[in-house]
Amino acid sequence: MGLIVQKFGGSSVADADKIRNVARIITETYRRGHSVVAVLSAQGDTTDDLIAKAAEINPNGSKREMDMLLSTGEQISCSLCAMAIEAMGYPVISLTGWQAGVRTNSAYSNARIKRVAPERILAELDKKCIVIVTGFQGINKYDDITTLGRGGSDTSAVALAASLHADLCQIYTDVDGVYTADPRHVEGAKKLDEITFDEMLELATLGAQVLHNRSVEMAKRYNVNLEVLSSFSGNPGTKVKEVVKNVEKMHV
Ligand code: ADP
Ligand code: ASP
Ligand code: MG
Repeated sequence: MGLIVQKFGGSSVADADKIRNVARIITETYRRGHSVVAVLSAQGDTTDDLIAKAAEINPNGSKREMDMLLSTGEQISCSLCAMAIEAMGYPVISLTGWQAGVRTNSAYSNARIKRVAPERILAELDKKCIVIVTGFQGINKYDDITTLGRGGSDTSAVALAASLHADLCQIYTDVDGVYTADPRHVEGAKKLDEITFDEMLELATLGAQVLHNRSVEMAKRYNVNLEVLSSFSGNPGTKVKEVVKNVEKMHV
């Protein structure tokens, strides 16, 4: 039994059935006796749709107002998922980035997490609640909502896992784990059972969006026990860690 942070990306929460599937994964983890903090992205293409909506009104809208707008996508998926979990009869609460204590700098649209004040989450976990947190967002020193850059929910999840000293941070997505190349575009790409933080950082920096590169940097820095897996298949995923088992060994 421990504390597990589970992050679900946009494709994992794209419609009502998928939200119910995510609710099932979360509640199964909870039923096994774990404390669960789930971090959700906006549903499907919601963030792109919101950007398009803004462009219809003002293609040069300020970054502050864009953050105000884009942060709403995650609020929708989190409240819906909390309602799905309520319907299953479990105690649950959804929290925005600021309610969850995610403090960032003021770089609107590409903010960095400076610290997480975990008191509210810990209080809810103490009450045996499942906690659902909006990914991709925080609050700055002016009490303005900020967003972390596209794909930033991975970083939200890892930051929460680090600050809560979680036993495990699971990144649920639409592929079975990390592959040698994008499995949607490269035939014959192989799934890796494990990968080091440094190798993952290289892949992420080269554009493998399966993990936001800042999430990998943060996981390495705070030694977060990280795993990438599918929310659909139930197959074992990829462990991302400091040292992998199958490295070349020398007798010295
Ligand atoms: P989510 O919405 O769950 O955050 P993303 O779309 O951000 O998911 O990331 C998952 C996608 O990353 C996969 O669908 C896959 O096409 C892509 N991808 C790119 N490179 C890789 C890789 N090396 N291994 C796995 N997936 C990869
Ligand atoms: N919803 C945000 C995006 O589409 C954040 C995320 O999905 O991680 O970029
Ligand atoms: Mg992503």
